[in-house]
Amino acid sequence: MTLTVLEPATEAVLAEVPRAGPDDADAAVARAKAAYPAWRAVAPPDRARLLYGLADALAERQEELAVLEARNAGKPIGDARGEMGMVVDVFRYYAGAVERNLGDTIPVTGGVAMTFREPLGVVALITPWNFPLTIAAWKLGPCLAAGNTVVLKPAELTPLTALEFERIALEAGLPEGVVNVVAGPGSTCGRRLVEHPDVAKVAFTGSTAVGRTIAAGAAQTIKRVTLELGGKSPNLVFADADLEAAAAAAPWAVFGNAGQDCCARSRILVESAALDRFMDALEEVVEGIRVGDPLDEATQMGPLISAAQRETVASYVPEDAPVAVRGSAPDGPGFWFPPTVLCPVAPDDRAAREEIFGPVACVIPFRDEAEAIELANDTVYGLSGSIWTRDGARALRVARALDTGVLSINSNTSVRVATPFGGFKQSGVGRELGPHALEHYTEVKTVYYATGG
Ligand code: NDP
Repeated sequence: MTLTVLEPATEAVLAEVPRAGPDDADAAVARAKAAYPAWRAVAPPDRARLLYGLADALAERQEELAVLEARNAGKPIGDARGEMGMVVDVFRYYAGAVERNLGDTIPVTGGVAMTFREPLGVVALITPWNFPLTIAAWKLGPCLAAGNTVVLKPAELTPLTALEFERIALEAGLPEGVVNVVAGPGSTCGRRLVEHPDVAKVAFTGSTAVGRTIAAGAAQTIKRVTLELGGKSPNLVFADADLEAAAAAAPWAVFGNAGQDCCARSRILVESAALDRFMDALEEVVEGIRVGDPLDEATQMGPLISAAQRETVASYVPEDAPVAVRGSAPDGPGFWFPPTVLCPVAPDDRAAREEIFGPVACVIPFRDEAEAIELANDTVYGLSGSIWTRDGARALRVARALDTGVLSINSNTSVRVATPFGGFKQSGVGRELGPHALEHYTEVKTVYYATGG
């Protein structure tokens, strides 16, 4: 059986790859299990050297990987280059962390207690199509650094950079069986990994709905689970903010990656007193967004990932939707959707409550700070968000009041290699990146040494 991989900008076939099923998942777990004792025993400086070597090998192939990712995921080549740069940085960061995987010594009666951070064993990574290699790297880096072996299941729609990664890891000297990639459907191949008794942990990024089934499936064998799920993040713009800066940044927080971003600040909450000025500035930016061929250096937004995704996104913009701004998009072929701003949107509107995962922003006016906080928190999600104001005390007050994992003040960026990333509420469990991620790929072991004292 083969998996036909499309190029979303043209709908043409980009590649045919073997389609993995449950038996392939079993075989990959067996390989990872066999490789685990030796990988775990690699001396930390040697494991660090191997991961630095892997980062160098990825850096050498950075442009090739960026082009492949841009074509397969339909993202602008400039963005894909940035993402591949982050992939390299992630491996360098966690190569450096191998020798900083520290424990504690604890004073106790009659001896000394110490803690060790031990690897878990075989870890299954299940990843989505929006940032295919980047999100895989966020998991692979800490997972491998901690001494685990891996079975990675990329999304069926975008398996190509993961398959390349498996080859690059071998070429860079990682032992056979340490990294195993199975490109197959979630409902069969992914499910098998979640249920497999030899898998110690599942690290997942994707929809909240599938996250729920993964948590339930993993419960059967008490697997460790980390989940990075959906979002409906707020972008709070107060009237005292630098409105030009806020309006210039806001579109990219929704239309970046064509809105297919769990961090998308897709609810733009604007203080009523500033609404008109903000919308005027926003309109100019949105109308200027260049949507088109991902490989054209001038392109700022590509297509959606699939026809199904385009249909889902379109369902949030019915005939009577309050469309305030609509940018342009090519006619086709390709899964195009124009950047679209809805204003004003009622907070209980479906478009304001559900993760759209497409280039549709909802502008919701608010009266004052209290209402802004209430609206921002009125969601089952809690992944990211932004606060735009010149009042520093207010910025921090609001930041502390928001139930969200990652916030930025006077900026719309949320992801950095060295800082923890993850969600409150139904946006997930656990943290990726930074030192926190390493903790999620280790168990704490306590050893008591009786000294007779
Ligand atoms: P999914 O959550 O279905 O897919 C994410 C990953 O999980 C894919 O690798 C998928 O495999 C796999 N998967 C699916 N079902 C199972 C299962 N039962 N057991 C194990 N693994 C499984 O996302 P979709 O692709 O369907 O996207 C739907 C919506 O999810 C989007 O519109 C968006 O709202 C949200 N989403 C959020 C993301 C985020 O970053 N938070 C990322 C992607 C989607 P495969 O696709 O190969 O079948």
